[in-house]
Parts: sequence; structure tokens; C-alpha cells
Amino acid sequence: MHDQAAAFAYVEAMLWGETPVCPHCGNFGKIYVLAGARSKPSKKNPEGIERHGLKKCAGCSKQFTVRIDTIFEESHIPLHLWLQAIHLMVSSKKGISSHQLHRVLGITYKSAWFLTHRIRECMRDGAPAGFGGDGGIVEVTRLSSAKSRVL
Ligand SMILES: [Zn+2]
Repeated sequence: MHDQAAAFAYVEAMLWGETPVCPHCGNFGKIYVLAGARSKPSKKNPEGIERHGLKKCAGCSKQFTVRIDTIFEESHIPLHLWLQAIHLMVSSKKGISSHQLHRVLGITYKSAWFLTHRIRECMRDGAPAGFGGDGGIVEVTRLSSAKSRVL
């Protein structure tokens, strides 16, 4: 899981299977794939940043990605780093600190802190038994999506 495109394909397959669902209106009939979409150019990224996994709903015309309604929402941290962080936290028996994550993933300490806290929060809410192994990430995303809908 070393790049964003692969990470999106993985999470999409896990949450949606073959059929993307619009988080805004629930439509799963006609969804456009906005391949190669880019963010607005900035000084740091004059050509913009590629927006992975971007879709547009034919029903309500809103855009979305699979990150909406999951713990990956509202975060600028690339999706493949989320998956790596979850993997490290789930597979490490002794747990992993924000500082270790910062070093291993090469992200800022602030980002690493945010990741560990958000992931731990989800792990605490769910039954710890449901964690670990292959199902780890599935549990994380479902729990969080149920939680954010309640809110
Ligand atoms: Zn829609």
C-alpha cells in the first residue's frame, strides 16, 4: 500500500464493492469517475495536486470520494499513509507512539499525533476483539461511519 491510487482502490473495494454510493443522496445508479482531476494550482504545487478517487453523482451533481463518512474524512494526510498507520497500530503488540509514526511514515509530528489519536479513538469505541488481523480496517471504517452519521 505505497501509493494513493492503490489505497483508494483498496478502500473503495472494501466499502463499496463494485458499486460506489453517493454519500450525499444515497444514489448508486449513475456515478461519474473524475479521473485525473486536480486541485487548484498553488505556489507550492503549480500544477495542482491529483485528487484521487474523485467521483461525481449524476443524481445530485455533488462530488465525493470514499473518504467521506469515514475516519479518513477531513484530513489532508494521504490515504495510503492512513492505511500504513492503521496497519502499524493494529499489528504492533506494544502499541506505537506518535513519535514512532512520525519517523516511520516521514510525516510531521502533528500529523502523526492526529493519526494516532483518531485511530485510537475508533479502536476504543469498538470491541477490541474485532480488531487486528485482516478485518482491522473494515472495523475502523464501519464504526466511524456509524458514529459520524449519528452525530
Ligand atoms: Zn448524490
